[in-house]
Amino acid sequence: MKQFVVIGCGRFGASVARTLYGLGLDVLAIDRNEDVIQGMAEFVTHAVQADATEEASIKALGMRNFDVAVITIGSNIQASIMATLIAKELGVKYVVAKAQNEQHAKVLYKIGADRVVFPERDMGVRVAHNLVSSNILDFIELAPDYSIVEVSALEEWEGKNLTELNVRARYGINIMAIKHGTEINISPTATDIVRKEDVLVVIGHNDDIQKIEQKA
Ligand code: ADP
Repeated sequence: MKQFVVIGCGRFGASVARTLYGLGLDVLAIDRNEDVIQGMAEFVTHAVQADATEEASIKALGMRNFDVAVITIGSNIQASIMATLIAKELGVKYVVAKAQNEQHAKVLYKIGADRVVFPERDMGVRVAHNLVSSNILDFIELAPDYSIVEVSALEEWEGKNLTELNVRARYGINIMAIKHGTEINISPTATDIVRKEDVLVVIGHNDDIQKIEQKA
């Protein structure tokens, strides 16, 4: 089983740690604040008070045995950079770090972070898309220009099969899945029919997805 360490247990870090633990995974939570650690203790496998910028204390926690480290120190950029560098140098295989801005992200990648996340920015994008178009239920950015979105079936799509909809030619998007209530069809075929209140999971270029948003 994979071993996870979450460094910095603010709102984002605590949520990551608790969710991983809730999924049955082994999670070590580290924070320099003793009160934070006491609050985390019952929601993770181990909670330890330590300063992530002190290499010796982090090394003593057996860092090299962890498969994944999630560095979620956000407000203190210097500490976030040091913690990422130390985790990588101590041999953690996969390091995910939270960045405050693009420059911070650039440095994190340079020193070896395998993935950089921007929780506030990404959630802002998702909420905004949902607000602009009530048909867009969720929005995940895949690459700068491509996304996956969950879109409620447009009225004009109801009762038509995928060949008739021909969304690939008309909108340049691909339908990955069709959700009908609690059922989900993850390999829709040309003859599958879109019904009222279905939710389609589509992938495409942001410009093409925007055309659907505007129609909705
Ligand atoms: P959020 O916005 O997700 O709440 P914060 O940046 O406010 O994120 O919280 C970061 C957490 O990281 C805090 O609980 C803080 O005590 C912890 N932290 C900050 N610096 C260090 C450090 N050097 N070592 C360990 N934990 C740290």
